[in-house]
Amino acid sequence: MVNEVKVLTGATLADPVAGIFQPFDIKIRGERIEGIYPPGSLGRAAADQRLSLEGCILAPGLTDLHVHLRAPGGEANETVASGLMAAAAGGFTTVCAMPNSGQVADKPEVLSYLRERAAASGLARLLPIAAVTKGLAGKELTDMAALKDAGAAAFSDDGMPIWDSGIMEAALYRAKALGLPVIDHCEDPGLKRDGLIHGGVISREMDLPGISAVSEAVPIARNILLAQKTGGRAHIAHLSTAEGVALLRFAQREGIAVTAEAMPHHLRLTDEVLRGGNTMGKVSPPLRDESHRQAVATAVKSGLITCIATDHAPWSADAKARPFAQAPNGISGLETALAVVWDTLVLREKMPILDLLARFILGPAAVLGRPPATIAPGAVADLVAIDPGKVKKVDPNAFYSLGKNTPFAGLTLRGWPVLTLYRGRITMREGQVYA
Ligand SMILES: [Zn+2]
Ligand SMILES: [Zn+2]
Repeated sequence: MVNEVKVLTGATLADPVAGIFQPFDIKIRGERIEGIYPPGSLGRAAADQRLSLEGCILAPGLTDLHVHLRAPGGEANETVASGLMAAAAGGFTTVCAMPNSGQVADKPEVLSYLRERAAASGLARLLPIAAVTKGLAGKELTDMAALKDAGAAAFSDDGMPIWDSGIMEAALYRAKALGLPVIDHCEDPGLKRDGLIHGGVISREMDLPGISAVSEAVPIARNILLAQKTGGRAHIAHLSTAEGVALLRFAQREGIAVTAEAMPHHLRLTDEVLRGGNTMGKVSPPLRDESHRQAVATAVKSGLITCIATDHAPWSADAKARPFAQAPNGISGLETALAVVWDTLVLREKMPILDLLARFILGPAAVLGRPPATIAPGAVADLVAIDPGKVKKVDPNAFYSLGKNTPFAGLTLRGWPVLTLYRGRITMREGQVYA
């Protein structure tokens, strides 16, 4: 029904955009929020559907800046439909797809394909991120203006670092003219060499080549200097080190337009989980030690790091069953992201709920230069309800993502999304996705 009326009652509205944290009932008509009312005042209002959200927190839909959908070309690991089902299950209404799929998103046709598939699914908004260089080869810039016209929300070579500083400089100039950010996977190839995991106690114990924190920090420093010189906006993907945090602090102090995101796995785990050769914890950049974890978590809490994103990287069971050195990097993250950070940052580390939500809503919107989702009359009804009391064990076999690869399997977490609405339509309720 086009103009179906839904009434949502009993929840505490939590909207970091409006700064609201208070019980309210809301009424949705069709795709939009019609109004926000004092609790209990919609008792007799006519509605096609009434949803009781007693004890839940109702927030604007979450945005994930960093997702690998694998399609087109890598459908054995994920399709647009399965990836967006995972997004809905995780409480996300907007996801940004990285360009390193089987067919690189360096041409307008690939972006059109992604947008059409997403529109057909009706599960979430897909904002494609286009490649900075042709074929992600790092040598020749793509036609960034044409890619923007085809719907590119940002530019990145993620999966690969933009290792050539001249290319990064040129990309920042062009992206600035287009009003979009450049997102960089910061890893210096010469410093990383054949490193497999964080260089430290665990890498020595496992006798594996290590990756230093400096291999991430050097390109971050370069990007800060280039953002300053060009006036372009650089966004640091998956920041994982204390050195990176220190550089970001410098950039912020100097007023340089550099932002960063942190990942749930870097906020919860350390390289200890790799003991015994657990490939589920193999990720790029690697899980690091507790001092780095704490530095990144502190920066997320303080707002220095403005975004939490998943780096959702689904892989088949076969791929992750390879020997440690050959197994691919990545974690299937969309369906556990919110519970992992709720349990870790809100419950253990006492981060205020509105601050946490801001990292999933305001921060990503600011990076993309788009208006954030908000709960207000007339706004598009992109919503997530979170049950802070819900306790559940992570079961990868229940994932909608084709990738069951997670280091969180069997972990009991508190605080899960229980309802997702995308443009007024229920896409997930009590863990069940409605395609
Ligand atoms: Zn990356
Ligand atoms: Zn990535």
